[in-house]
Amino acid sequence: MTLVPPQDLLRAFRRAPGRALMLGHVHPDADVLGTLLAAGLALEKAGWSVVYGGPHPAPASLEFLPGIERYVPLATVNGRFDLALLTDCPNPERTEGLIDQARAATDTLVNVDHHPDNRRYGDVNWIEPAAAATGEMVYELLVALGADLTPEIATNLFTAVHTDTGSFRYSNVTPDTFRIAAALVGAGAAPAMVSNALYERRPIDALHHLGRALSLVQVSDDGRVAWLALPEGTVPESFIEAEELVNYPRSLGSVRVACFLREIEGKVKISLRGKGDVDVQAVAAHFGGGGHKNAAGCTIAASLEDATRLVLDAMRTAIHQPSR
Ligand code: 5GP
Ligand code: MN
Repeated sequence: MTLVPPQDLLRAFRRAPGRALMLGHVHPDADVLGTLLAAGLALEKAGWSVVYGGPHPAPASLEFLPGIERYVPLATVNGRFDLALLTDCPNPERTEGLIDQARAATDTLVNVDHHPDNRRYGDVNWIEPAAAATGEMVYELLVALGADLTPEIATNLFTAVHTDTGSFRYSNVTPDTFRIAAALVGAGAAPAMVSNALYERRPIDALHHLGRALSLVQVSDDGRVAWLALPEGTVPESFIEAEELVNYPRSLGSVRVACFLREIEGKVKISLRGKGDVDVQAVAAHFGGGGHKNAAGCTIAASLEDATRLVLDAMRTAIHQPSR
């Protein structure tokens, strides 16, 4: 199934060049940054003036993305915009209020996303839960617009798809994923460079931090639930941001749901991963978060101990109530 960008979306991008805002979500990852940079670079090629930013800075681990130096933390949205684009952002809360300012600054707020729980908050909405990454959608958008896929744009989109599919390993991968990845490599994205930049640039002390973190992994008696509850200060912030620590409990063969709980500023930020038909999005939604069926997250205002107990209870219930 090919992803088909709707006409009102194409119209929004085909207007006479003006000023555009590429607005990111909290703690931006490669899917949001890669798509905003790709779309923004294409708009600039078409004569637009583009501002890139969001509530938090881009992580140092993604500094290799072409144009990333343009993405800045925004305290406020300044001036009028002819177009504001949000990608990979399922709900307005994930902009920490910037979306309200963006709405006041533009008549054309565009929402492009692959989260099934997207709230369709835009003036124009394109939501495709079948897409493995928003990167696949923005690729189809730029192709439909006839944009020149420069190596810079291709690298941003390839990285978006690469990371949201766990390097093309997760169950969200489709034939389209590989078709799009092939086209992006043909347009100048270099898979070896991207893999190297994502996975082979660990700082010298990273493996010691990893050892300390992994010593905290626990597994339920039946082997089906594994979790890592990390007290604040155990390892540096920058290390946690650069690693997908939830992948380690997830990697155990018997595990059906994995959980990474991270204490941060008196709250607990939680990453959930499910295998097969366990619906972790439902668990995250129960605690006010969201995501995808197999990858979701939430934040709980409780102690690490209490949050761990709450989440593990909910996870055990989810295992016994597989989704449709
Ligand atoms: P991660 O565990 O990598 O932070 O997030 C996995 C998935 O869950 C992503 O699709 C992300 O958008 C979603 N997610 C993580 N935390 C939250 C949250 O607090 N609220 C919502 N709505 N989604 C979240
Ligand atoms: Mn995504």
